[in-house]
Amino acid sequence: MLAKMQNPIIQFDHVSRRFGGRNVLKDIDLEVPAGSIAGLVGPNGSGKTTLLKLMAGFIKTTSGNVRLFGYDPFVDRAEVMRRARFAFAPPAVYGSLTAREHLKFLSATNMRPRERSTRDDIMAVLETVGLADRADDKAHTYSFGMKQRLNLAQALLPMPALLIFDEPTDGLDPIAVVELRGLLKRLQTEHNLTLVLSSHMLGEIEKLADTIFMLNDGRQIFCGSPDKLLGEERQIMIRIEGELKAGVNVLRKHGIEPEVNGDGRLLLPPGSIRLDEAVRLLGNQGLKLMEFHEKQPGLEDAYIRRLHQG
Ligand code: ADP
Repeated sequence: MLAKMQNPIIQFDHVSRRFGGRNVLKDIDLEVPAGSIAGLVGPNGSGKTTLLKLMAGFIKTTSGNVRLFGYDPFVDRAEVMRRARFAFAPPAVYGSLTAREHLKFLSATNMRPRERSTRDDIMAVLETVGLADRADDKAHTYSFGMKQRLNLAQALLPMPALLIFDEPTDGLDPIAVVELRGLLKRLQTEHNLTLVLSSHMLGEIEKLADTIFMLNDGRQIFCGSPDKLLGEERQIMIRIEGELKAGVNVLRKHGIEPEVNGDGRLLLPPGSIRLDEAVRLLGNQGLKLMEFHEKQPGLEDAYIRRLHQG
């Protein structure tokens, strides 16, 4: 159970969802504060899209509560949609329309006459996503990255408080990924936009997210900052002079199963003991420690280890 924060924009409380006889999401607790970027990661089939559909109010929970801005999105969809926008893959783009026509059409069909976007509003959004100079070109002439930015522009007219973006970088080339990342970060800092991004690739999310929610097989296996994930996955390495077996036995007596690493090194499982405690424990037994330090895994390694544990 998470410590409750004040007025989170998104709140999931013990949420489960079944399809047929299958539990696709199991007991999810989740909170997203205003102005933050939350990254939802997990392998294909882990339940990310189902979780986003619950946020959008497309489906309802089997048990537990979902709240966006304090509203149940399945019941008060209109209240939620006034504040939140969703961009699902693939981009909703029509080749025979220009970017400007997409946004004019959106404004004419989705907004009340008084609220309709002006020509300036439309150009400002196209400016934001870097499409102003191609505003009057038909979308079939755009690269995939440009289509994705047009998809985003449609979700930003008018600017919402919350943007939920499913697999934003799917199918983009590396340069387009970097551009989109910069754009999403700017939306957070300049417009205080709260963002939820989902991806099956942690690498796409780690550079942006303040909080990572990791799903595996419908369960939340991690929730916290990228630093927390790394911290919890830090391994201790100790090199002992002479007989390694004595060191292994001391650690086993304390319930720690070290990995013996050929060249006289012991690797202790993440979170099993603090480095200073391990050093004291082995030192007290008269063992001579030649080297000891904490090994920082890469975030991708930490993710994969979590998936195997989860
Ligand atoms: P992800 O987005 O992480 O790839 P999904 O949320 O799409 O995962 O799917 C999670 C699991 O739920 C998958 O096994 C999928 O087959 C199943 N699932 C999703 N939607 C439905 C549905 N409407 N009916 C039955 N099973 C579904």
